[in-house]
Amino acid sequence: MPSASSYAAQSATSPLAPMAIQRRDPLPTDVEIEISHCGVCHSDLHMARNEWNMTPYPCVPGHEIVGRVTRVGAKVSKFKVGDLAAVGCMVDSCRTCPSCKDGNEQLCDNGFTLTYGSPDKIPGGAEITHGGYSTSITVTESFVLRIPEGLDPAAAAPLLCAGITTYSPLKHWGAAPGRTVGIVGLGGLGHMGVQFSRALGAHTVLFTTSANKVEDGKELGAHEVVVSRDEKQMDAQANRFDLILNTVSAPHDLNPFMNMLKRDGTMVLVGAPATPHPPLMVFPMIFRRRSIAGSLIGGIAQTQQMLDFCAKHKIAAQVEVIPVQQINEAFERMLKSDVKYRFVIDMASMKK
Ligand code: NAP
Ligand code: ZN
Ligand code: ZN
Repeated sequence: MPSASSYAAQSATSPLAPMAIQRRDPLPTDVEIEISHCGVCHSDLHMARNEWNMTPYPCVPGHEIVGRVTRVGAKVSKFKVGDLAAVGCMVDSCRTCPSCKDGNEQLCDNGFTLTYGSPDKIPGGAEITHGGYSTSITVTESFVLRIPEGLDPAAAAPLLCAGITTYSPLKHWGAAPGRTVGIVGLGGLGHMGVQFSRALGAHTVLFTTSANKVEDGKELGAHEVVVSRDEKQMDAQANRFDLILNTVSAPHDLNPFMNMLKRDGTMVLVGAPATPHPPLMVFPMIFRRRSIAGSLIGGIAQTQQMLDFCAKHKIAAQVEVIPVQQINEAFERMLKSDVKYRFVIDMASMKK
């Protein structure tokens, strides 16, 4: 059984530290990947610190994984040794329920297998899945993605979660020419959302609490940037949005954003704070038939479609590449919204 080096949290309060883990030998349909880069998602921080009360320990985070294929099982047809491959937030699902058959494995009725922190239904490695803050991973072919030519591996890694999590709802709720779309929060998710909304042709407005991100927001493609701490700017936004995609990682008042939706507009929450948002007022929703919705990553086929879309439109993440030894510091900086706009671990650093 191959072993790998990783960085793991042993408890909700312990910093991430080196740990050896086991990976399974490739089964006939498995792809083994030597990880070169792994993005640092805010969900990794929520999970490592058990903020969602669901973390089994030890926890090896990481679900924005890119690397080279090192071995393939005998029945693998889509990948060969040396290919650039990627893994996102899921490594398996039931594959038989209506959601799976529909290509929405992330909504699997029987629960999909998280890339890390899920009981592993496929035996041979550890009992709990371990993520991409590690030197290798073995995943069944159906859950492995292709990185198209022309995408830089470091800048492509965040597409596997931040990318699909914003692309999927923008497609589902129809970001397109003639529509006005708001993106709330310019972090890992938000900076992908701005780029996708613009590329899909929507009039794109970024909302940020950070006045120092206004120029970046425009460079990423926002037609307008609203500093959400400025009441005057916020008041001027009433009734103008078809869709607002909220990527914020912390609880905050959603009511001002609800009032910005047009009649029949929708606010989609993808940010997943550890504690609830303050209550939503009912009247602004019922008087304009506004909706509130949620969205979770995206299916495997759509993730591949998103990667291909990125290659075609020259879209990628803006990344700060770090050695794995700086992960705890990176978590602290992410909490202060002090990253432009995604940390990505250079896994070669693990050998140091
Ligand atoms: P991130 O890089 O830390 O970005 C979050 C952004 O939210 C910050 O950059 C900041 O943007 C804004 N923000 C932070 N605290 C705020 C506050 N108190 N009030 C208002 N705005 C605040 O995080 P991320 O990786 O993009 O993830 C964002 C959230 O999405 C996390 O909760 C994560 O777990 C969740 N997530 C969900 C899914 C899904 O499938 N639904 C997938 C991935 C991640 P500004 O500085 O611009 O204000
Ligand atoms: Zn994520
Ligand atoms: Zn299923």
